[in-house]
Amino acid sequence: PVRLLWFRRDLRLADNPALHAAAGTGVPGTGDGSGPASVLPVFVVDPVLWEPAGPSRRAYLVRSLHALDAALRERGSGGLVVRRGEPVAELGRLVAETGADEVHAAADFGPYGRARDEEVEQALGEQGVALVRTGSPYAVAPGRVRKQDDTPYRVFTPFLRAWADHGWRAPLPEPKDVVWADGVKSSGIPAEPRSGVPALPTAGEAAARAVWSAYRKKGLQRYAETRDRADLPGTSHLSVHLRFGEVHPRTLLAEVGPDASTFRAELAWREFYADVLHHHPESAREYLNPQLAGMQYDTGQDADALFAAWQAGRTGYPFVDAGMRQLAAEGWMHNRVRMVVASFLVKDLHQEWTRGARHFMNLLADGDLASNSHGWQWVAGCGTDAAPYFRIFNPVAQGRKFDPDGDYVRRYIPELQGVAGAAVHEPWKLPGGPPKGYPKPIVDHAEERAVSLARYKAVREG
Ligand code: FAD
Repeated sequence: PVRLLWFRRDLRLADNPALHAAAGTGVPGTGDGSGPASVLPVFVVDPVLWEPAGPSRRAYLVRSLHALDAALRERGSGGLVVRRGEPVAELGRLVAETGADEVHAAADFGPYGRARDEEVEQALGEQGVALVRTGSPYAVAPGRVRKQDDTPYRVFTPFLRAWADHGWRAPLPEPKDVVWADGVKSSGIPAEPRSGVPALPTAGEAAARAVWSAYRKKGLQRYAETRDRADLPGTSHLSVHLRFGEVHPRTLLAEVGPDASTFRAELAWREFYADVLHHHPESAREYLNPQLAGMQYDTGQDADALFAAWQAGRTGYPFVDAGMRQLAAEGWMHNRVRMVVASFLVKDLHQEWTRGARHFMNLLADGDLASNSHGWQWVAGCGTDAAPYFRIFNPVAQGRKFDPDGDYVRRYIPELQGVAGAAVHEPWKLPGGPPKGYPKPIVDHAEERAVSLARYKAVREG
């Protein structure tokens, strides 16, 4: 028999339980009850996901698909079969063309992915074909970690403990003896967007492995000390590879070693947010804590102008501006700086977190609905065990602390390249003011902080 292996956000061959299940490699727990089969690797370019992905995720996806296609060909497959259109229709057609008896995939837990898979399952069912879901993009699938009373966690630290206690399987090696099906027409991997693509890291499973092994040797030991320093290459830069499933978190967890508890905890944040989104799919766009939905935000022309300055990295606060320019240039931003720029938009410019979250999703190569929406809600004080609303980041103090010599700021803001040391964080204090071409602060942090606190008090007191 032929089985389709439907790739989605798991663009790799190693540690891919759905591949084992499709090929029937006999690995226990991979659901391959029905014996060996030949595998047709498939990717469906779904306009619902493709259109809003933005140039950086679209370009990255295209490159990752090319890498997967090349890896498949090296293994004797005729390559990845790509179709464009609605998954229900395209998979139905592929099943009819190949006579496949099963379609295999990893489970998707996003709100859209889950609904799409239910629809596909039903439509395939009418053709007598099963959609078999094996594994997920997480070490522990969303929904599994629960409190004693069977309700989900809303607070990270107890989730982390229960998640670690739950445990996960060892990574699966890539199966060697897969028989690949081919002879099916592919409409080809789409072209990259012609504009708006930032400088992205190399895509694909091999690149992801290389990033991880280099980081494991050189950076991981110092992760806890350096992860908050925007000026140092202190973090793993694995987020985009995890986003596209070029490496599975289980592989990382198996190789981190016993001393890497901080790094493990960060991977657990990703799993926690996926779990929260699974239980509250509406929290992708709505307030997890409805009390804060009544918060007063600024709108209108003036607010739009401030928002545009924030997007462009022209707020006059260098640490904020460097972050926004890094986002535009690389489709990635350091985590500490993501928190600072998000806080600035919500608490200094008084704009709703959803607006900032949408901008991030347009530009981030690692853009992930769960981590992004809940990262924003955490900063805005309306999410899971959030930073209390009244803890408002001071963009200058954050810069001085996490970019102590100003190197990060100078890397992204050419106008400030002539300013030495930490003075770069307060260019308005330089004799003669900010260097030519760089703006004065568009708002006064101390004043806006007071405004935010007053609005917070109003919403609390109803
Ligand atoms: P490392 O520090 O090396 O961490 C390793 C991995 O752990 C990351 O790759 C990521 O998968 C996970 N991780 C680390 N920190 C977090 C966190 N706070 N929340 C969830 N997972 C985490 N991350 C995304 O992957 N996609 C997003 O769209 C996204 N949006 C964010 C928006 C805001 C406002 C904030 C504050 C954070 C957001 N994050 C997002 C989380 C975090 O900033 C990135 O995962 C991290 O910066 C990626 O860099 P890294 O791979 O070097 O991380």
